[in-house]
Parts: sequence; structure tokens; C-alpha cells
Amino acid sequence: MSKTVDVTGRLRKMPADAGDPVSYVLAVGDARVPLNELIGKPLRFDFEGVIRCINCDRITKKSFSQGFCYPCFRKLAACDTCIMSPRSAIIIWAPVVNQSGARPTA
Ligand SMILES: [Zn+2]
Repeated sequence: MSKTVDVTGRLRKMPADAGDPVSYVLAVGDARVPLNELIGKPLRFDFEGVIRCINCDRITKKSFSQGFCYPCFRKLAACDTCIMSPRSAIIIWAPVVNQSGARPTA
């Protein structure tokens, strides 16, 4: 007997819990569907033709950084390169200053 799971909402980034085996969850709106028990079973997704920003709910033709509209993508720290790809972050070294405000001599 097959179990039918019918959820509606925006698809979010897939949460996973490290373990043996790893537990995957389908995040749709407020619903969380455990996926491990559905491995090998048919799944059906219906796209309603509208992409909405996961931050501001604005309708957008294209999403950026896993679900943001372009303005949110440009302004949110969550979309910054150092958050999305820490290995490519630019590190700016500030000069070392001691408590008196002077640079220490080498
Ligand atoms: Zn937005």
C-alpha cells in the first residue's frame, strides 16, 4: 500500500541531518516531508509558474542564491559571497594597533 503525501508551498533549500544514513527532508512551505522513506518511490512536483522571493515575497522572473529576487540578492548579507562561498571570500587585513593606538614595531 502506498502512502500519498500532498503538500503545497514554496520549495526551500533541502535540510539534511548528518547520520548514518544521512536524513533528507523536503521543505515545502511549512511542511517537512522525510525523504529517506520515499527513496525509490515516484514523486510528482507541479510548478505553478510563479517564482517568489523567499525574503520579500516579490514575484521574480529568476531567483538568485537559492530563492532570492535580485534586489534582495544584492542587499542581504545572507547572499554575500562569503556566506554562499566562504572559500572565495576576500579577507581584508587591518593593521595591528596596540592599546596606545600606535602600530607595534617589528
Ligand atoms: Zn526579495
